[in-house]
Amino acid sequence: MFMHRTVDYCPVHESAAPVPFALHSPARKETVLIVSSDIQSSPITVKNRILAQLPPDDLLALQPMLRPVDFRGRAVLQEANRRVEYVHFIEQGLVSQVAGTRTDYVETAMVGVFGYVGVPVVLGSPIASQRSIASMPGTALRISAADLTAVLADRPHIREHLLRYVQALIAQNTQSVLCAARHEINQRLARWLLLANDRIQSDILHITHELLAASLGVRRASITNALLQFEAEGIVQKTRGAVRVIDRPGLENRACDCYSVVRDAYAWTQDTHDGHSHAGCSHGHGGQDDIIAGTA
Ligand SMILES: [Zn+2]
Repeated sequence: MFMHRTVDYCPVHESAAPVPFALHSPARKETVLIVSSDIQSSPITVKNRILAQLPPDDLLALQPMLRPVDFRGRAVLQEANRRVEYVHFIEQGLVSQVAGTRTDYVETAMVGVFGYVGVPVVLGSPIASQRSIASMPGTALRISAADLTAVLADRPHIREHLLRYVQALIAQNTQSVLCAARHEINQRLARWLLLANDRIQSDILHITHELLAASLGVRRASITNALLQFEAEGIVQKTRGAVRVIDRPGLENRACDCYSVVRDAYAWTQDTHDGHSHAGCSHGHGGQDDIIAGTA
């Protein structure tokens, strides 16, 4: 049975270099994973959508090497221009992929339950080009780059599956550039909140104005003004250290088209591999089917 490790990552502003995992209390609590004693007939349960859509035998092949880990807010899961030691399949929380310096950066993509951190390993590169920082604390299933590389050599179709996510990530990167260049802050903020809402599957986003400003590359005052406007319109409710989405359709109306473009790109990765794309399906928000069907 999996045991859940509580691990600590180096907060980005507390150290000049990423610190390896430091185990505080190994195996001190049970994992959210459920591994049946009859492991051959009962696949493990995972929240990460990429892993969850693997065929059961492929998931079982990975299972002995997957380790549940926790990560704190502002933790660095991957440093830019460094060797990728681990691939993290996100189970909860939110991770920002960013470009720039340690103190002046812009988010190029966000990664949640629909994705993983460590794409270079799947592409055959040992080095990451961007930093990945936790925007919201969470959990992940971690596998070493060496172990995943070995599995991919034995099971190349797993690489094909993981590459579907890479295409969606590229779409998000590209759309982030367009969005920053062409769209107003209110539209961009609405897009960000919607994408985050989808990925953490909660209407309450534990996010500060500072982090939103850094992610979008704008002044903090611009975020505050935009949130005040959304709040006055009854779309969100601000609380200390959090933003609650109370009118999602209203937020969708405020967002630029970038939201739907990214959502649909991710919907394709959630395809059932039977040729049916869910990108055009119209489903509401909030249920498990919605996750599969295209709320990115
Ligand atoms: Zn946009």
